[in-house]
Amino acid sequence: ISLVQSIVNNPDQKLKDLLIVSESDRKMLAEFNNTKRDISSCLISELFEQQAVVLPNKTAVISGDLQITYGELDNRSNQLANHLISLGIRGGDVVGMCLERSAEMVVAVLAVLKAGCCYLPIDPIFPNDRIAYMYEDSRAKVLISQSSLKEKFNDFPETIMVLTDIDRDKISGHSTKKPAISIDNQSLAYMIYTSGSTGKPKGVKVHHEGVVNFIESMFEKPGIKESDILLAVVTLSFDMSVYELFVPLSKGATIVVATSRDTTDGSALIDLINKHDISLISATPSFWSILLASGWEGSDRIKGLCGGEALTSGFVSQILPKVGEFWNCYGPTETVVYSTCIQITSAGIPILIGKPINNTFIQILDKNSKELPVGVTGEVCIGGQCLTKGYNNLPELTAEKFVVIEDDRRVYRTGDLGRFISDGNIELFGRSDNQIKLRGFRIEPGEIESHLTRIPLVQEAVVRIHKFDQNDERLVAFMNVEEGFNLTREDIINSLSRRLPSYMMPSFFQTSVGFPRLANGKINKKALALEIKGPEKGKDIELTPVEKVIYNIWSEALKTGDIKATDNFFEVGGNSLLAISVFSKIEAAFNIVLGLRIFFDSPRIKDLAEVIDISIQKNVKQKSIKKTIIDDSRIIEGEI
Ligand code: AMP
Repeated sequence: ISLVQSIVNNPDQKLKDLLIVSESDRKMLAEFNNTKRDISSCLISELFEQQAVVLPNKTAVISGDLQITYGELDNRSNQLANHLISLGIRGGDVVGMCLERSAEMVVAVLAVLKAGCCYLPIDPIFPNDRIAYMYEDSRAKVLISQSSLKEKFNDFPETIMVLTDIDRDKISGHSTKKPAISIDNQSLAYMIYTSGSTGKPKGVKVHHEGVVNFIESMFEKPGIKESDILLAVVTLSFDMSVYELFVPLSKGATIVVATSRDTTDGSALIDLINKHDISLISATPSFWSILLASGWEGSDRIKGLCGGEALTSGFVSQILPKVGEFWNCYGPTETVVYSTCIQITSAGIPILIGKPINNTFIQILDKNSKELPVGVTGEVCIGGQCLTKGYNNLPELTAEKFVVIEDDRRVYRTGDLGRFISDGNIELFGRSDNQIKLRGFRIEPGEIESHLTRIPLVQEAVVRIHKFDQNDERLVAFMNVEEGFNLTREDIINSLSRRLPSYMMPSFFQTSVGFPRLANGKINKKALALEIKGPEKGKDIELTPVEKVIYNIWSEALKTGDIKATDNFFEVGGNSLLAISVFSKIEAAFNIVLGLRIFFDSPRIKDLAEVIDISIQKNVKQKSIKKTIIDDSRIIEGEI
């Protein structure tokens, strides 16, 4: 294999031509891709409706104190679908959806599908410019939202808005009967926008058949039971949410929807898991790490699915003892959520991503789209019923990424490097391009770089990931600026935050006049080194004693002294995982127990210091009261 691999790595094409997949290899590869199964030729919403007929009184969704049965969910989503149709939308139209995480969100997703439309998830945390771009690019006709988020859409005067709270009476006035629609399983079900290297996000168009195939394949492996209770934690704008919503609802299982606040707070998540006896969770490694860092004891009852980014052996060794089963699931949005999966039973390396799911084939191709033999690393290319309809309004990019290979079959070129091993499982080796995965979020550095270079006096930018610690990876931006560039970090963030969501915001911006170059004139990216500055001397002069202590803990964790008392921890490089360790250090420093929730409520040094001050004063008072009681009892004893 090493001889074969050295031929692959050799620039001489003639040598590579020697790499022919032998007849026995061909048979083996065909066997690995022998995934053909019959699938239901129906729409996604029809899989749910079948359950609603059989199990009308079973709980479908739990959200806070609210519980909705399959029958109620079916009726309410039919009413909303009929309402949408009454507003003039027709099969095939795109409907934007910007809702807080709730049972209402599930009703809305089903309603859009039942109306024969394609849903466009818009995360409320997205900046307005990004939302406007997605909305226009997708040519959405209607927007489903709620009054608390309405202001985000003030600049959309043409849009027909449905507000699930304000329009409740109008919606419930419609029939609970399923609307008649005339779409087929090639029609679009959703459009999810992912980061785009040219500076704008790109919409992936996903049709019903691909999702139905995915759902039914997930029934087999990793498997789901009617009695399962799933904790839904993933934002709708990330396609792992498609697993969370449709796999349980197509099987008669129950979904517990965590609020977006719960999803970052480990103790709130643990409470939900225990309260609802959760048995199924599908999430990113970062999510599982939050649970681990929050002291989760685990549960044998839980089947855990993990996807979105590579697993490390260290992480696997921590999570395995906490769950009944743990599965590694892999796949890009372009081929519907997960395209391979494997149960992980040991932390030994390599950590594999498994075999193709039903009606899916994988080929490992070289740069010339030639198939490589078993054991040889190339680009992972995925084809079959999972293949989506490409990128919205981007025919050239679609043609570049969704390519035709031999036998007129089409595959999606993932950009992931991998190889088949002899038992048919696939091993991954990172990316062939610059794409980044950060806490499960897919980020094209080119998108951030293109916004940075639009700032006056910025000539070039390089964005990459920097690993500060085991659980602390962050984006850093290097900027080649002209003399006279004098924007502060805050100015740069203000400029970027109109277009980039917070997870795409670099934590560090390092400027220099000129970049190191290679002999051919290209930027020498390896020579770009981050200069890390700790707490700044004198910076804390204007801080109170309590603020000073917090400032020092923050700046040590965030690796920067450039923090103001009014900065939000999560906007200056902090994340939920880092918050857990930072907060426990703060509690230890003041010898108090406040609970992590306080940190999410008061993520600024100033506010946090106030809470701590009050708590310290309370403690002092309580201690002095105790002392008086002790003194009193002595006096009483003395009297006796
Ligand atoms: P997304 O479209 O956001 O789901 O991102 C897809 C990309 O995430 C893949 O092309 C991989 O680079 C990475 N990815 C997803 N799941 C895994 C996994 N289980 N192991 C390694 N990388 C993964």
